[in-house]
Amino acid sequence: MDTIELVLNSLLGPNKDIEPLDKISLSLTCPITYTKMKVACKGSRCRHATCFEGASFLQMHQQSGEPRWKCAVCKEIVHWYNLRSDELMQYLIEQFPDCDKVEAKLQDGVLSFHGIPADPDVDDDEDGMD
Ligand SMILES: [Zn+2]
Repeated sequence: MDTIELVLNSLLGPNKDIEPLDKISLSLTCPITYTKMKVACKGSRCRHATCFEGASFLQMHQQSGEPRWKCAVCKEIVHWYNLRSDELMQYLIEQFPDCDKVEAKLQDGVLSFHGIPADPDVDDDEDGMD
């Protein structure tokens, strides 16, 4: 499932039994290597927004003698041919190169993204105007 679809589902509320969220946080960090992703991937059947680094996933499986093709997030079987790059996450990685996380919000029907800087201490740093 595409991340954009999951994000919209969560923000709009998938059905009337589930309250829509007012925002959703997306991690740009790979859960395998804990570094910023370059190519955000997940399995074609994964139903979560979190992605992992495609190269790390393949590498991890090449290195293990007995490859078990499992998603790093949900443990669903993900064969290399079921690995998909995720367009939304890829876009966010490029839009927010200095951020670990991005918050998605839906306001007046417009989806907006707000990057959260990697180091929260940098928040107070006011640079003035050049
Ligand atoms: Zn998964």
